[in-house]
Amino acid sequence: MMRAISWIILLAALVSGAVWFADRPGEVTLNWQGWRIDTTVGFLVFSVALVAALVAALYRFWLFLRRTPSRLSAYRRATKRQRGYRALTEGMVAVAAGDAAEAGRQAKRADTLLGEPPLTMLLSAQAAQLNGDDAAARVHFTNMLERPETAFLGLRGLLVQAQRDDDTEAALHYARRAYEMRPKTSWVLPALFDLQVKQGNWAEALASLEEAVRRRAVSQEEGRARRVVVLLGCSNEAARAGNLRGAISYARKAYNQSPDFLPATIRLVGLMVEDGKLRPASRIIHNAWTREPHPELARIYAAMAPAEEAIKKVRRFERLLSFNPNHPESHVALAEAALEAELWGSAKSHLETAAESGKTARICRLMADVEEAENNDTDAARRWLMEAATAEPDPAWLCTSCGAAWTRWDPICGRCGELAALEWRTPMHAVQPADKSLNPPAAPTAGAPES
Ligand SMILES: [Zn+2]
Repeated sequence: MMRAISWIILLAALVSGAVWFADRPGEVTLNWQGWRIDTTVGFLVFSVALVAALVAALYRFWLFLRRTPSRLSAYRRATKRQRGYRALTEGMVAVAAGDAAEAGRQAKRADTLLGEPPLTMLLSAQAAQLNGDDAAARVHFTNMLERPETAFLGLRGLLVQAQRDDDTEAALHYARRAYEMRPKTSWVLPALFDLQVKQGNWAEALASLEEAVRRRAVSQEEGRARRVVVLLGCSNEAARAGNLRGAISYARKAYNQSPDFLPATIRLVGLMVEDGKLRPASRIIHNAWTREPHPELARIYAAMAPAEEAIKKVRRFERLLSFNPNHPESHVALAEAALEAELWGSAKSHLETAAESGKTARICRLMADVEEAENNDTDAARRWLMEAATAEPDPAWLCTSCGAAWTRWDPICGRCGELAALEWRTPMHAVQPADKSLNPPAAPTAGAPES
């Protein structure tokens, strides 16, 4: 638009100049070295303007010729760079699509075309990972550590690689370095926490958890649920180091935070009994028994006085029953004490009461014990043991993640390593599917291995 307007103005100026000269005619005579030129003033002005325009055009052409080589090489550089970026993009797309060969090819191309290692290092490392060449990937990630702009990315790559190799110690080392470099990055603290838990560094895990909650990398609610488990891990860690006071202090913190969390109660009273604090321990057990009776609490309750007479133990368990008289677990606990005191009738009647809520395998086994101890009736005992095999299974600490069953609670599942995954539940019996066609075909008789 501006260009059009300036052209119109220039044209108008030329026309009005020509008209001005046409209105004011005049002659010009030029004498030079025997040459004589007679012409009008208008023509002279026109000629001078034409020569000036020609000189200007020639000058521009000369400038253009002079700059051409540098322009050509700049153009070539720009195209090369553009091709490099395209290779980089296509490489990234190939990585995302899981095309290992294409990713490797584009990584090499981008590396040659761009000649900028920080840009292509990550792609080369990812392509190597996709190709299953872990050693090459590790070299690329380690090289990335040397440049400040790629060091953090390199650390993350090495951390993931170490986790994949199940090398927790190396992974923890990289996670600690990542934390030193960028503590505010959202994945760093949770990753550090998970590795500390896996390695059993509970005190460090607790500090990481508190910081993660403070930085809001973990929600308050989740932090609370994890804290009680981590505190119990700290308690285990202290006990293993021979620090009973420390172990009790951690267990008490866990219990105070979540009094309804059964593992915290079991852990605290167990340690208190070990420390000789019997009275407060039995108070806590009585309290817990009113809410949720548990065989482990009964075991600790029994272990409080190992040298006590069997009949006195029965009195104590009668008191325990009074805190939750309708719960089958109360009757089973009392039956066990009665069995020890050879009070067969009482043991049997409490087991029968407990069996009204479900004849579990444990009740059947205890009934077998009574039959064998009271009358030496091995037939009746065997019948009870056979019934135990098909009875409702005993509850156990079941992993909600992998399904493993444990007799003792632990902060992490011993099989899959999941934190806070164990819950006190009754395992399921294997069930025969209703549709018979789902059954596997019968094994061939000839050459089949004996099962
Ligand atoms: Zn598990």
